[in-house]
Amino acid sequence: MDTVIPLWEPPSLPVAGTAARFPVRRIYCVGRNYAAHTLEMGADPKRDPPFFFMKPADALVPDGGHVPYPPATANLHHEIELVVAIETGGAEIAPEAALDHVYGYAVGIDLTRRDLQQVAKDRSWPWDAGKGFDHGAPCGELQPASAIGHPTRGTIALEVDGTPRQEGDLAQMIWPVPDVIAALSRLFELAPGDLIYTGTPAGVGPIRPGERLEGNVEGVGTLTVTVGEAA
Ligand code: MN
Repeated sequence: MDTVIPLWEPPSLPVAGTAARFPVRRIYCVGRNYAAHTLEMGADPKRDPPFFFMKPADALVPDGGHVPYPPATANLHHEIELVVAIETGGAEIAPEAALDHVYGYAVGIDLTRRDLQQVAKDRSWPWDAGKGFDHGAPCGELQPASAIGHPTRGTIALEVDGTPRQEGDLAQMIWPVPDVIAALSRLFELAPGDLIYTGTPAGVGPIRPGERLEGNVEGVGTLTVTVGEAA
């Protein structure tokens, strides 16, 4: 393709056990998928339908990567999440068939400018400024489902500079992965390369510039990123 500006590399993730990479098309995220986190955010954990927001694919930060402390916030938060990678797309996917569309899983952190998100909530504005900023989507190496299966339980946790901050269990998801895929695919036709961040357990909190985040999902792996000094 002849392009009038230089063409960029598509964002991608490394895959365990192969040198081949997983190209990333879109990043969807689920809001409030663990009751304890819903309560700590002051919301009602009744079983509302899942809701979704997006991050740009080029917000990915790899394992071992560096996140410059983002501009325009004084309250950057960590949210440890299980990430689902979609291999085959589709619309109106039935929950019973949903896992057939999954390539694999990774550990992700949904970084959030909580102060900007709160302004958006208060004023009924979109969440993009609170969620969809540069370097806002750290994600570790993908583990193919063909190797690890489809995790439905196990510890999901995050430490900041070695201090435990978040801990939950994948079994605590209000909407398990098949239900998330089914609900999302009723709104958007999913495509190969799409990622889904599936929500965070309790314990979200502020990150100070210079701190190191270490996430862990049992049976999936780990993710470590460092956060830079404020600009
Ligand atoms: Mn989240």
